[in-house]
Amino acid sequence: METVDSIVVGAGVVGLAIARALATAGRETIVVEAADAIGTETSSRNSEVIHAGIYYPAGSLMARLCVEGRKALYAYCAARGVPHRRSGKLIVAVTAEEAELLAAIRARAAANGADDLEFVDGPAARALEPALETTVAALVSPSTGIVDSHAYMAALRDDAEAAGAAFAFLSPFEAARVVADGFEVAVGGAEPMRLKARRLIVAAGLQASDLARRIEGLPACHVPETRYAKGNYFTLSGRAPFSRLIYPVPVPGGLGTHLTLDMAGQARFGPDVEWVETLDYRVDPSRAPAFAAAIRRYWPALPEDALAPGYAGIRPKLSRPGEPARDFLIAGPADHGIAGLSLLFGIESPGLTASLAIAAMVAGQLD
Ligand SMILES: Cc1cc2nc3c(=O)[nH]c(=O)nc-3n(C[C@H](O)[C@H](O)[C@H](O)COP(=O)(O)OP(=O)(O)OC[C@H]3O[C@@H](n4cnc5c(N)ncnc54)[C@H](O)[C@@H]3O)c2cc1C
Repeated sequence: METVDSIVVGAGVVGLAIARALATAGRETIVVEAADAIGTETSSRNSEVIHAGIYYPAGSLMARLCVEGRKALYAYCAARGVPHRRSGKLIVAVTAEEAELLAAIRARAAANGADDLEFVDGPAARALEPALETTVAALVSPSTGIVDSHAYMAALRDDAEAAGAAFAFLSPFEAARVVADGFEVAVGGAEPMRLKARRLIVAAGLQASDLARRIEGLPACHVPETRYAKGNYFTLSGRAPFSRLIYPVPVPGGLGTHLTLDMAGQARFGPDVEWVETLDYRVDPSRAPAFAAAIRRYWPALPEDALAPGYAGIRPKLSRPGEPARDFLIAGPADHGIAGLSLLFGIESPGLTASLAIAAMVAGQLD
């Protein structure tokens, strides 16, 4: 049986960042990935926003890892030539009641370390973004940005490989067993293999709970249920009259129907929240009128028939519909008592932004 130091399950952005951290620290690392390429699941079905760290509860992992990860990600993109832009973002209030909520959002952001948000009134918001005709007040977040997530993931893979990490594609993790000095891992696919490793990291996104249940020796009480909350996007035909990201004041349970831009300037609206049981990524065109109504609150001039079904991503959720949102769960030896094991559950947004900070945390857990 081949023996390696570390096995990372999953080559999404989080698994890639972890593989890079382990390999560059000198650990012999193999990444096993069920798909035929990196980043084919949630990591290529998101908004590609570098979040500032505004909304998360103070003291949560999401808050801390978002702010740390955002700083690390900007530095990494600059150093590695990964296309990105500090676009900035506006959170826009269109009623006096919404405007009253902005102070609390700003205070929460400041507590998280996102302490550069500025209040602007309606005319000042329109001086930045003239199409915001109905805005009465807004918060400007200068440190929110966008990133080419595929170029970022490719750079992480290059770094990991340059440091000696190996990638096995079409190689699904099937099961593992805790043994005296690590793990025996069964990998399926066309060329099934058994591997031995001192460290096992499960960064399998939507499948994390399913795979963790297949680790013999890990008590079931350490495996939470992962539920699915789909986020649908509609794209805008034609160019958007915005250069910053535009978010409404958040609604209970979600951030509202916001506008984000990709690096090519294409605008997309969403994601909404649709709880689902299966991984079906089709976007139902009949959702368009609800999107249009939400968008017209802050952009009344949205042209008729300008929205086309775009794509969808699915959030791995640790909460049920209607329950308060749950934090990331990054369970290491101190949590479940098994040396060398790190399990990542519920890595929804801001997982892309936080990826480098998550990787540093996992590497630290397993040192
Ligand atoms: C709609 C939406 C919008 C989002 N927007 C943003 C945003 O703007 N900014 C931000 O910071 N974050 C955002 N996120 C969150 C971000 O996309 C995720 O946190 C991040 O992509 C998670 O990466 P991951 O590597 O954990 O998971 P994934 O990308 O899902 O990767 C998991 C990998 O595990 C593999 N796998 C599964 N089973 C097996 C197996 N048996 N064996 C081997 N491999 C397996 C999968 O094939 C996959 O490649 C968004 C998420 C969603 C859903």
